[in-house]
Amino acid sequence: MTTIAIDGPGGAGKSTLARNLAAALGLDWLDTGAMYRAVALLSLRRGVDSADAAALGALAASMQLEVGTAVRLDGEDVTGAIRSTAVDGIVSKVAAHPEVRRQLVERQRAWVAARRGGIVEGRDITSVVLPDADVRIYLTAGGDERASRRAVERGDADPSAARASIAARDALDSSRPASPLVVADGAVVLDSTGRSPADVLEEALGLVRAAGVAPGPVPAPPAPRPVAGRVVRPPSPAELRFYAVCRAITVGASERFHPGPVVGAERLPASGAYVLAPVHRTNLDWLTVARVTRRRLRYLVKDEVWRRSKLAGRLIEALGAFPVDRSAPDREALAKALEVLAAGEPLVIFPEGTRRSGPTVDDVRDGAAYLALRSGAPIYPVGLGGMEASMPRGARLPRPRRVVVVVGEPLLPATFLATAGTASAGGRPSRVPRSVTKALSEALRAALQEVHDAAEAAVGGG
Ligand code: C5P
Repeated sequence: MTTIAIDGPGGAGKSTLARNLAAALGLDWLDTGAMYRAVALLSLRRGVDSADAAALGALAASMQLEVGTAVRLDGEDVTGAIRSTAVDGIVSKVAAHPEVRRQLVERQRAWVAARRGGIVEGRDITSVVLPDADVRIYLTAGGDERASRRAVERGDADPSAARASIAARDALDSSRPASPLVVADGAVVLDSTGRSPADVLEEALGLVRAAGVAPGPVPAPPAPRPVAGRVVRPPSPAELRFYAVCRAITVGASERFHPGPVVGAERLPASGAYVLAPVHRTNLDWLTVARVTRRRLRYLVKDEVWRRSKLAGRLIEALGAFPVDRSAPDREALAKALEVLAAGEPLVIFPEGTRRSGPTVDDVRDGAAYLALRSGAPIYPVGLGGMEASMPRGARLPRPRRVVVVVGEPLLPATFLATAGTASAGGRPSRVPRSVTKALSEALRAALQEVHDAAEAAVGGG
């Protein structure tokens, strides 16, 4: 796990350095300023006063935010909108409220925990968000240079407006009582005045090497990697109530249509993260599996739903779905799944990947094992007896039938790591050997077969 924290005033070159370090070290990076800007933009749109701490805190808690190469707020691309003069004018007032900061700091830490590292830049990262980061940098530059860089970024010929705006924000950011911009104890000050980005990067890489987190010369990859990172939001109380109502209706209907017991539900923890791994035989498996717990389950769903209809996206998100970009590599989906687990929520993954038929669990994909090993979360195999008989392949509608759900004994990732002699202090190494992932996947396949057989036998089909 490598964590790099960068703070500094506006226009110091933090984003440039973070992006270049990310490319050189193969890490993700997070621009926390974009998060405060998103709250400011939302407040402008909703007519919330920048002095109304409670209302701003509520906005920060409930907004949907994805910070990457693009910034998406409640599904809308606001990459340009958050850099407007209007946002510049209020963002530091909005960011001064502890209510707002608490919400965003929580998301920032979840982002790091999910990736087990990364590069985070802002104003309070070295001091408050990641005071124990491996490398902590305070990046600064002369006032005139910062103003002219910002003016160039914005396409302004005259830097005087940028100078005034940056000076006003710096003054507010440095003087606010909550997490002010300071040179934190132990942070290394880098001055980028008159220096090229490559030169600043070289100095920062020197600090990374000195910290012992990137041994040897660091190879520079050909192009900067785009930032990945939707910050998964914890559910609000209203969403949990909404989930409870929707669950009662849909799971209630499923239980009437497919009556039968859930065996082994008491094995599931009442709190904390776990991976729920059911067999996959029908299009209704996701609903049947929701019987095992009243806790909100999270599912990965293609982000097209959100793009097609914001409302539909909000609705299924409240029901536990979270978006995954189909065009992005699996790495992105896995990072989001890790964020969900880091937030302490139960996650549903169908290890067989797609719907299968027949009594045999032939093979499983490595996703569930990988997520468990990286997060430390246990995997619970789940058998769904009777589902396939109710809705065989090709059937458009299910037939009423008895269904038995069996929750098996958990597979604990720590035991697999210990066997392989790779357990770190917390039992969660930052790199999981492929052989360990394979071993856990195979154990999961066998466990799935067992619970599937038990569930089918219980309905009389096995
Ligand atoms: O980095 P950027 O200039 O986009 O940040 C915009 C504003 O967000 C800052 O002026 C500051 O008020 C606030 N901010 C903060 N803490 C952070 C990052 C940004 O207060 N970690």
